[in-house]
Amino acid sequence: MTTTSSNPNPLADTMPTFIGMPKFPTMAKEALGNTQQRRNLQHATHTIRAKRAAVVGEMNDWEALRRNGADTKDEVLAHLDTYLEQLEAKLVESGATVHWARDAEEANRIVIGLVQAEGVDEVVKVKSMATQEIELNEALEEVGIAAWETDLAELIVQLGDDRPSHILVPAIHRGRAEIREIFRNKMAAVGRPAPEGMTDEPRQLAEAARLHLREKFLRAKVAISGANFAIADTGTLVVLESEGNGRMCLTLPETLISVVGIEKVLPTWEDLGTFMQLLPRSSTGERMNPYTTMWTGPAAGDGPQNVHVVLVDNGRTHVLADEVGRQGLRCIRCSACLNVCPVYERAGGHAYGSVYPGPIGAVLTPQLRGTGSAIDQSLPYASSLCGACFEVCPVRIDIPRMLVHLRTQVVDEHRGTRNAESSAMQAMAWMFADNRRLQKAQRAATLGGKLLGKRTSLGAIPGPASAWSGARDVPVPPKETFRQWWSRTDGGRR
Ligand code: SF4
Repeated sequence: MTTTSSNPNPLADTMPTFIGMPKFPTMAKEALGNTQQRRNLQHATHTIRAKRAAVVGEMNDWEALRRNGADTKDEVLAHLDTYLEQLEAKLVESGATVHWARDAEEANRIVIGLVQAEGVDEVVKVKSMATQEIELNEALEEVGIAAWETDLAELIVQLGDDRPSHILVPAIHRGRAEIREIFRNKMAAVGRPAPEGMTDEPRQLAEAARLHLREKFLRAKVAISGANFAIADTGTLVVLESEGNGRMCLTLPETLISVVGIEKVLPTWEDLGTFMQLLPRSSTGERMNPYTTMWTGPAAGDGPQNVHVVLVDNGRTHVLADEVGRQGLRCIRCSACLNVCPVYERAGGHAYGSVYPGPIGAVLTPQLRGTGSAIDQSLPYASSLCGACFEVCPVRIDIPRMLVHLRTQVVDEHRGTRNAESSAMQAMAWMFADNRRLQKAQRAATLGGKLLGKRTSLGAIPGPASAWSGARDVPVPPKETFRQWWSRTDGGRR
């Protein structure tokens, strides 16, 4: 196919992006009203969580593996420049072409140039978070190149004009009946239609996707992938997936372009052994990954003959400069933290306003994008700090500590800005600074408590506190202070 000016993907104009999204509480409140989504999320996260717990429980050396994974990643981050240069040298030696991209715009420009050089107007893609992060599909669409997602869940998201809501299961918020409708209504516009009489039985849905995608795989001249790991001492890229779509993308087309975040490097081939145990168990709850594809440059007469690797920074060196925040770059995108998070389970992935939802998104997104927007300022607060994410993280990322660190950063950045919360905090600081003031305030509060009689909750508070009290039960003040109780009962002895 030749490049055309009009976009060959009829869905292009309806593709939503994350730009300009409102802050987390607004998005979460909207999501909480979607009962079907909450039911889907609860079922899916609890199922994966239980599978993970079972296979992790089988491993006597799980903690040692976690420590090893964290140490390996920390070693990479401490000497990232050295490992990246080693990776580049090995990739070039193996016949691949390496490109460096400072940011999303540069990465997209490089990829567009490579696709246009092949004279095609469509590419197939294996699920890649890095390409979602840089909004590659949208950039390709702007120049008339259709990007076909081939991961089943990504296909559902793309056909449904939707956004991914989970790292591993991007369509986790969709039920079987919804998927059937999406396939019925949208497949025909972009390729082979869904079979007549297709039900919402999983086998039939999977078969419809398989048939729809097969013609795209066989036609595509260019594929775009990410990589789970990039091994510095061999120049090998590794992709883990569960459906075989990745294997098709990575082997059938003539040209393969892999967009890889610079933190994906592992020092040695031996290091991969640790992560091949940590990742499948933590992500899908499987002992072994179903489809693992590895390639070291092009192989004569076999698979893609033009192999390009685009190494993307896009804020990662900024994250690296923060001693507390840099541990976020250890993340291997397993999604275990999402599946145990009580906030994610209820709010769903869209509320996080990024391709990185859940606890890791709450720390990674504000670091990569900065805290300039309402959504990015609110993300560090999208947590109860229960610590479940740290407990399951295969590379021991201390997400609660990072959340607190980022909250401090957000507060510091807005110090001096007056709003209802800062005014309330100032009033509290003034009251707590003087014992007599505090006692007066406490006596006033207990008087209020007595006047409210048997009520246990204040209900909705008017004015600036209405947003806060609208989502919480505010208890009525006690009828006596601790000091009053102490003196009345002689410290509990009467
Ligand atoms: S932070 Fe840890 S648990 Fe969460 S996705 Fe990354 S590696 Fe997995």
